[in-house]
Amino acid sequence: KLYNEVQDLKGNIRVYCRVRPFLPGEQRSVSTVSRADDGNITIINPSKNGKEGHKSFTFNKVFGPSATQEEIYSDTQPLIRSVLDGFNVCIFAYGQTGSGKTYTMTGPRDITEQSQGVNYRALSDLFQLSERRKDTITYHIAVQMIEIYNEQVRDLLVSDGIRNSSQKGLNVPNASLVPVSSTSEVIELMNIGQRNRAVGATALNDRSSRSHSCLTVHVQGREVASGAVLRGCMHLVDLAGSERVLKSEVTGERMKEAQHINRSLSALGDVIAALAQKNSHVPYRNSKLTQLLQDSLGGQAKTLMFVHVSPEQDAAGETISTLKFAERVS
Ligand code: ADP
Ligand code: MG
Repeated sequence: KLYNEVQDLKGNIRVYCRVRPFLPGEQRSVSTVSRADDGNITIINPSKNGKEGHKSFTFNKVFGPSATQEEIYSDTQPLIRSVLDGFNVCIFAYGQTGSGKTYTMTGPRDITEQSQGVNYRALSDLFQLSERRKDTITYHIAVQMIEIYNEQVRDLLVSDGIRNSSQKGLNVPNASLVPVSSTSEVIELMNIGQRNRAVGATALNDRSSRSHSCLTVHVQGREVASGAVLRGCMHLVDLAGSERVLKSEVTGERMKEAQHINRSLSALGDVIAALAQKNSHVPYRNSKLTQLLQDSLGGQAKTLMFVHVSPEQDAAGETISTLKFAERVS
């Protein structure tokens, strides 16, 4: 309720920043983040001439390194209700590789109930809320999982080939749409998707950081009394790593990947920035990702972008460009 009021005032785009803690083995003496609270974050950028530069940014929320998965999710939860009310929602995780995108969306490698990320919590809430409304609205829920790599879309749920492209939302004609009725069914599908994603990836060539992955949840509700139908969908997107790759460092396949990632992330930034500024022209056509999400970006749809920051000093340069990207879309 409160969230929707805030949304009405501030538009449908929110940006949350999350700073991850130091990991075991990281040089933890000095963090590049000197402040993270009250919607503000300050980065210390050690410059070449020895002088430190401080840069501050402001977002809808800033979560420091001690924020729990539960805290992160509690500010996301109101969006789940709006999916059941028939709105489209996009939740993105943005940041350089290693900054915590997958941790926020999914969780750590060995997931416990406490460390479950946004995906799990969102789905479990979705089922709980739909159950609570069942006397007035009957819901059908179905999921898709895709990966975008080098501007090519890959269905991650191929083994469960129930196909249906008639619903609005993610416009992938051939991606499997799998009906689900419980969180555990979705977890099983997410595991299948993860396994399919890993196919072809080697330890040195972890493709997951260089592709976008998208879990889409389609919700269809039928009002018991009137028979009226509403549709909403939610896209949970773990974006490719945003790090800039120096031209001199890469060649061939890696170069192509880097160009595709740069282009699609800037296309996403352009779309969200155009929406935030209420421009009349929104350039959806410039990437696969923005084409696919077109119905769920803008209009009545709601967007939440988590931008991720590593506390490591080495990462300061990338962190600042991450925060500049985020500032532009907020
Ligand atoms: P990305 O998906 O952006 O490449 P990951 O989510 O894989 O980054 O995070 C990199 C590492 O940091 C992983 O080992 C992950 O478990 C850990 N990590 C990330 N965020 C947190 C956090 N908030 N708390 C604890 N560990 C985290
Ligand atoms: Mg990741």
